[in-house]
Amino acid sequence: MPLYDFECEPCVYYTEIRQGVDEPSVHTCPFCKQETLKKVFINAPPVIVRGEAKTIGQVIDRNTKNLGKYERESLNKKNNVAQKKEFDEKRQLHRKINSMTEKEKVKWIKEGDWWI
Ligand SMILES: [Zn+2]
Repeated sequence: MPLYDFECEPCVYYTEIRQGVDEPSVHTCPFCKQETLKKVFINAPPVIVRGEAKTIGQVIDRNTKNLGKYERESLNKKNNVAQKKEFDEKRQLHRKINSMTEKEKVKWIKEGDWWI
């Protein structure tokens, strides 16, 4: 039996259900208990492996597409800020490591960040 993607629009619940072709394409959402779990078709090339991360990525992609222009822009802005913060933290960490002596590096690797 083929595996189908199902999504509940109101609560953005996402799941995969294995079922026959002639079975109903609407189910009760296990999350909000409404008859809103609907079969969705993802137009992805068949080479994409249904790994967990990729599936979540697909959900996020789809949700992003569903957002209005304004939400999308603010979301991108948020992502940029988060990325920049992460980048800054990494840079600071690299600087810190570079300023360490070999002995300090070994200690840091063994014991972590607490003593700095
Ligand atoms: Zn639901």
